[in-house]
Amino acid sequence: MSTETRRSRRNGQRGIHVSFEFFPPKNAEMETALWESIERLAPLAPQFVSVTYGAGGSTRERTHATVERIVKETKLKPAAHLTCVGASRAEVDEVVSAYKDAGVRHIVALRGDPAGGIGTTYEAHPDGYKSTAELVEGIRRIGDFEVSVSAYPEKHPESASFEADIDVLKAKVDAGATRAITQFFFDNDLYLRFLDKVRARGINIPILPGIVPVQNFKQTASFAARCGASIPFWLAERFDGLENDPATRRLIAAAVAAEQVIDLLDAGVRDFHFYTMNKADLVYAICRLIGLRPVAEARASAAA
Ligand code: FAD
Repeated sequence: MSTETRRSRRNGQRGIHVSFEFFPPKNAEMETALWESIERLAPLAPQFVSVTYGAGGSTRERTHATVERIVKETKLKPAAHLTCVGASRAEVDEVVSAYKDAGVRHIVALRGDPAGGIGTTYEAHPDGYKSTAELVEGIRRIGDFEVSVSAYPEKHPESASFEADIDVLKAKVDAGATRAITQFFFDNDLYLRFLDKVRARGINIPILPGIVPVQNFKQTASFAARCGASIPFWLAERFDGLENDPATRRLIAAAVAAEQVIDLLDAGVRDFHFYTMNKADLVYAICRLIGLRPVAEARASAAA
C-alpha cells in the first residue's frame, strides 16, 4: 500500500476511540490549567475521561471534587480512579457509594502502591480489600459501574513472572472488570506481544494502550524507572542534549507520540488512552493526526 493511500485511509478512519487521564489539581492555578485542558479536549468526544487518585488516597477529596464537577458541568463521562491501599472496606465502600450518589458510573479500580512507597512490601489494610479483584467485586456489588483495571505490558515490578501478572489480570476480569488500561510503554511490540498472551489466556475485554506524550523526558524516565516501564535507547537519544531547548523537545515529543500511535493504528488498534498530565496541546495534535475532529455537541462548556 502506498504511503498516500495509507494516509488517506487513516484520515477517513472510523471507529477510533480515545480517553484522557487527568490528575486532580492542588491549587487554583492548577485547577484553571486542568479545566482549560478539559475544555480543549472535550470536543474530541472521548469515550471517558479519568481522574487519578493520589498515592494512599491522598487526593480522595480532590479526586471526588474534580469528578463531581465533570458530572455537573460537562457532558463527558468521568471515571474515578480508586485504590484500596491503607483503607478499610467500609471506607472504600463509602467512597464508591458517594460516586454512585454523584451520578458517576465508571471506576478505575486499583490496588495502589505500598504505603511505604514503590519497592517496599505491600500490606493490605487489616479490614481492607486484600486484592484488586476483591475491590472490583466490592464495587460491582455497590452499583452498576463500569470497572476498568490496570494491565502491565512489561509486567508489574512486584510480579514474579508475566504469567503470574496475567493471572492477576484474569482474576480482575473474572471479578467483573470490563476494560483494562495499560501502563505506558514506548515499544509497541511489548504491547502487541502482551495482547497476544492476554487473548491466549481467554481475556477478551478491551485492553487500552496507555500513551504518554513525553512532556518532560527526565520526569518520564524517572517515573518509568519506578514503575517498571522501559525507556528504549532510541528515545533517550532523541531527547539527549535538549535540556535547555524546550521548543525542540516539544516537537520531538509530538513526533514520537504520533509515530507510536500511527504504528499502533496500522497494527489494528482503535482505542487509545492518553496520559495528558493535564496538558492538552500534544494530545490534541496527536488526536488530529489520527483523524479525530471536534464534535460540536461534545464541547465541555455545553453543560449537561
Ligand atoms: P494489581 O493489578 O492488583 O497487581 C499488580 C501486580 O502486582 C500483579 O500482577 C501481581 O503480580 C503483583 N502483586 C499484587 N499484589 C501482590 C502481592 N500481594 N504479592 C505479590 N505480588 C503482588 N496508582 C495510584 O495510586 N493512583 C492512581 O490513580 C493510579 N492509576 C493507575 C492507572 C493505570 C492505568 C495504571 C496502569 C496504574 C495506576 N496506578 C495508580 C498505579 C498502581 O496503583 C500501581 O501500579 C500499584 O503498585 C498496583 O496496583 P494495581 O491495581 O495495578 O495492582
